[in-house]
Amino acid sequence: MIKTCSKCGAEFDLLSGKPGFATVCPSCTQNPEETARRAAVRERERKAWIKATKDTERGREKEIQDDEWLAILGLVKVPSSNRFTVSVPMESDSRPRKAS
Ligand SMILES: [Zn+2]
Repeated sequence: MIKTCSKCGAEFDLLSGKPGFATVCPSCTQNPEETARRAAVRERERKAWIKATKDTERGREKEIQDDEWLAILGLVKVPSSNRFTVSVPMESDSRPRKAS
């Protein structure tokens, strides 16, 4: 009889007459501390992954917003340095002129 472990989610063959919980696989029955530790690690990884995903999305949105604002302000991001520089408008009026 194949059952799915309620602790680790692994499928296991439930042997009738064996001691242990009917919904917990033998390895979990034998080593509940290890299973709890693994479950905690998995949960932490899952939460970290969710957080990382959210941070990435938020960061991307913020970056787009920043870029838009920078464009409005006439600033240009320098990709390699992660700093900002002023883009000088190339208009004839702002160009230095030679005294004639
Ligand atoms: Zn298990």
